[in-house]
Amino acid sequence: MITAGARAVFSQEGMFKATTIERRELQPNDVLIEIKYAGICHSDIHTARGDWGPTNYPLVPGHEIAGIVARIGSEVTKYKVGDRVGVGCMVDSCGECVHCRNGEEQYCLSGNTGTYGAIDRYGQFTQGGYSTHIVVTEGFVVRIPDGMALDAAAPLLCAGITTYSPLRHWSAGPGKKVAVVGLGGLGHMAVKLAHAMGAEVTVLSQSLKKKEDGLQLGADHYYATSDTATFKQLAGSFDLIINTVSAKVDMDAYLSLLALDGTLVNVGAPSQPLPIQVFSLIHARRSFAGSMIGGIRETQEMLDFCAEHNIAPEIEVISADSIDEAWERVLASDVRYRFVIDIETMKHV
Ligand code: NAP
Ligand code: ZN
Repeated sequence: MITAGARAVFSQEGMFKATTIERRELQPNDVLIEIKYAGICHSDIHTARGDWGPTNYPLVPGHEIAGIVARIGSEVTKYKVGDRVGVGCMVDSCGECVHCRNGEEQYCLSGNTGTYGAIDRYGQFTQGGYSTHIVVTEGFVVRIPDGMALDAAAPLLCAGITTYSPLRHWSAGPGKKVAVVGLGGLGHMAVKLAHAMGAEVTVLSQSLKKKEDGLQLGADHYYATSDTATFKQLAGSFDLIINTVSAKVDMDAYLSLLALDGTLVNVGAPSQPLPIQVFSLIHARRSFAGSMIGGIRETQEMLDFCAEHNIAPEIEVISADSIDEAWERVLASDVRYRFVIDIETMKHV
């Protein structure tokens, strides 16, 4: 076993405490990664606080991992010691079902293995990236392009791919009007990516507080959803809406903003159901869809796209002692626009 330093919560309401966890000894296809940075995703909070159902404790969250290969198993071919690599929301899948074979491991028919909070094929409870080291099979490791800073790369492993994948799937590009609901971690990446793909981008945020930022990130328009006039003005406007909101919102109001044949894709994953009136769809042949992260091949494609287009998340690097505070700020929609833990600060406990 390999002992790693980590920060864990020990109960649903608990604060973070320093601890150690055991990583498995390297199997032939495994890579040991020395983690340098880990992003904080709202899903970490949903999971730890039991929003999506019970979880095990202690829990080490973190699925936006950037680091350096420290050791490789005897049959690893893709990576060597010293390579700059990333790990996102999953660390394994069956590898055999139709979706795995098509490179959409996130939709594995047996269920993918989450980076934390899951039971892996060795029967061990997975623990995430708020830690100094992780062992991952090489097929679930991606390469961070040269010249991309590791701290800025980390959030791309979840916030980046989760927005890139639906933008690609629903063909965001020139001539398409895309709205992004919620300007947080995922939302700000959606704006940057949709803009780079050539779409006309509108941000729908609760207020106009972040308008300057939104326009700088690449949005063409910015509206406050607290103003009911917004919904009248923009009725029937968008080809694609990416909803990143972590809480329940009035879906009928947002569906009314779609044009004929438009699609609203929910990537936000609130714990409560999101009821809709079917007439919100029927009236303009609209679709209400969902999307989960992206496959490994597409994650690599997204990283390369970001490198090529010079796209990086806006980050606030924090120390391991500030995770509790950062979580409270995420919950208060006070994140600009992704917190990233400097794992180096975890070593001095
Ligand atoms: P985040 O940084 O907290 O951003 C969420 C944004 O939603 C906030 O910044 C805020 O934007 C808006 N918002 C929050 N509460 C709201 C409310 N009550 N009413 C209206 N708007 C509200 O979170 P994130 O890390 O981007 O994650 C967003 C959601 O996506 C979470 O539910 C997360 O679990 C989920 N997620 C899903 C996937 C997937 O594969 N589908 C992957 C990662 C994350 P404004 O201040 O601009 O209004
Ligand atoms: Zn995430």
